[in-house]
Amino acid sequence: MVTSVRRHRPDAGCIEAVDVARAALVDAVGAAAVGDHLGHEVEGERLVSHVFGCDRPGYRGWQWSVVVTRASRQRDVTVNEIALLPGDAALVSPVWVPYRERVRPGDVGPGDLLPTDDDDPRLVPGWLAGDERTEPLPDDDLAPVVVAAEIGLGRARVLSLEGRDLATARWYGGEHGPDAAVTQGAPASCASCGFLVRMAGPLSTVFGVCANEVAIDDGRVVSFDHGCGAHSEANPKGVPPSLALPEPVLDTVGFDDVESF
Ligand code: SF4
Repeated sequence: MVTSVRRHRPDAGCIEAVDVARAALVDAVGAAAVGDHLGHEVEGERLVSHVFGCDRPGYRGWQWSVVVTRASRQRDVTVNEIALLPGDAALVSPVWVPYRERVRPGDVGPGDLLPTDDDDPRLVPGWLAGDERTEPLPDDDLAPVVVAAEIGLGRARVLSLEGRDLATARWYGGEHGPDAAVTQGAPASCASCGFLVRMAGPLSTVFGVCANEVAIDDGRVVSFDHGCGAHSEANPKGVPPSLALPEPVLDTVGFDDVESF
């Protein structure tokens, strides 16, 4: 039974108008779809919702809401609105999730576009803080940067400090950082590997790029304290050297059958 009274004064005429509400509902959706009267809810001054069960197949737990009202100093009650609403036990679709929040790394394929918001916190204008800098340029040094941008040099936006922090956390904490499984048995870290290519910019103090084609991280950003078994200075100590081949033996007694054409 759905019955509640809010701060509005219950109107007896509207509350008693169950038959009026049911008649309007049957007229609108058909008698077969209308279930029992489940209660009412006072919505406002002389404004009451009557709730009926929904007997439509596939709508278990849904409820009809018929809003009735009455003009001041009038006895007649009229129907204001009819709506089908989900009850507590209704089966409803999941909450809508905007497409941007559903995109996952790797979802953007050839030909796809994924616009970046103008106020994306990961980016700042290029003239505000170049990716070589950690602080905004002083006004005196700004002019050349602005001019360079106006004639097409430089980039419109670069990574903000927040953008760098997010990238650092993602790269360092993932499969290319010190905690990756491949690092655990590595003979040494990337910092001492000849296959590590140095980067430029503020992230270069922590990361480089692996350029070893046989390494699992080839072409990827790796942290200096990452590592793998393909390290350039991997020491083969403990691994037996290749067995030396014996001297060839010239057999002067036996012979081989050779097919002739
Ligand atoms: S080969 Fe291994 S140790 Fe060397 S840079 Fe690549 S991932 Fe690092």
